[in-house]
Amino acid sequence: MQKFICDCDCGNVLFFGSSRCLRCLGNVGYDPQQRAMVKLRPDGPMKRCANGLKHGVCNWVVQTESKEILCMACQMNRIIPDLSSGRNLVLWGRMEMAKRRLIYTLLKLGITLPSKSSNPKNGLAFDIVSTLSNPSVTMGHLNGIITVNLEEADDTYRQFNRQQLGENSRTLLGHFRHESAHYLWQRHLSELSWDNPMRLAFRERFGDEWQDYSAALSKHYKNGAPTGWEQNYITAYAASHPWEDWAETWAHYLQIEDGLETCEGMGIDVKHLALPLVILPVEAGFLPTMLISTLEEEGAFLAWLQRWMCVSTVLNEISHSLGEPALYPFVINVRVAQKLRLAHYYAKVWGDPLAK
Ligand SMILES: [Zn+2]
Ligand SMILES: [Zn+2]
Ligand SMILES: [Zn+2]
Repeated sequence: MQKFICDCDCGNVLFFGSSRCLRCLGNVGYDPQQRAMVKLRPDGPMKRCANGLKHGVCNWVVQTESKEILCMACQMNRIIPDLSSGRNLVLWGRMEMAKRRLIYTLLKLGITLPSKSSNPKNGLAFDIVSTLSNPSVTMGHLNGIITVNLEEADDTYRQFNRQQLGENSRTLLGHFRHESAHYLWQRHLSELSWDNPMRLAFRERFGDEWQDYSAALSKHYKNGAPTGWEQNYITAYAASHPWEDWAETWAHYLQIEDGLETCEGMGIDVKHLALPLVILPVEAGFLPTMLISTLEEEGAFLAWLQRWMCVSTVLNEISHSLGEPALYPFVINVRVAQKLRLAHYYAKVWGDPLAK
């Protein structure tokens, strides 16, 4: 995440979730078009999203003259929770925060995000549903609709699930990032012919996606990940099916992107860290051979990954200083780095066909 400064003369630092500047006491909001926090003035060009005004769950803004009352992120909601319960309102606010952060990073990567209502074929929509009132609902992605379980925003519920499933990490943002991978796969990659180099590269890195998906998931939930999964996957769940491997890899890629952008915004430079760079073997051939990259791109990827490996080591040590477990409980080995390389290529080089 970038660093934000109040856009009046006060010069105060603002955060992605800010809705008020604590120095000049002005109301502020995030404008996804300008990628900046803007001050909301009476008769100004921007107004607060109606979900912020009415429910306090959104700090994004819309153009005052637009007839839309919801921001671009809230326009993507197809189902929102029953707000007659105060608890649901609190949980929904957490969900929306994570959702906006996903949208922020995808837009930053140049991925266009039409809403499903404006673009039924390629658009995206969100169903935010409580499984307490709808027990049959499951989290996932289907044809441009991402469904999340509202109850996951309850920390106790989510931690219980995390332990039951033996996961190292389970976050709302992680859920949104993961499901966005399935959406992008369907929108960009499943459309490619089987011999398209990008499609072949995905198969080489993640495996044959035509494996029976529901059988693979049943097997995973019954037996767990195979012993030694750490050698090949970023998480145990990634071992369940090639689609899930891609989704876990993409979610991890977005996590690193966001983390490194935050470092940059906050002035943390790995040059200043008293750590040796982790040397990755260039001869590992990070990108599958059917895709062409320049030495410069390969170098940029390795530098990107090395920066993250340094920063995440520091994060974990600080976390231990606070008496907490590792904040970053993941290991990136060469196999995982090769998969992240493909995610990096997809985001930085291949790009969004809709945006071209
Ligand atoms: Zn201010
Ligand atoms: Zn909104
Ligand atoms: Zn998935």
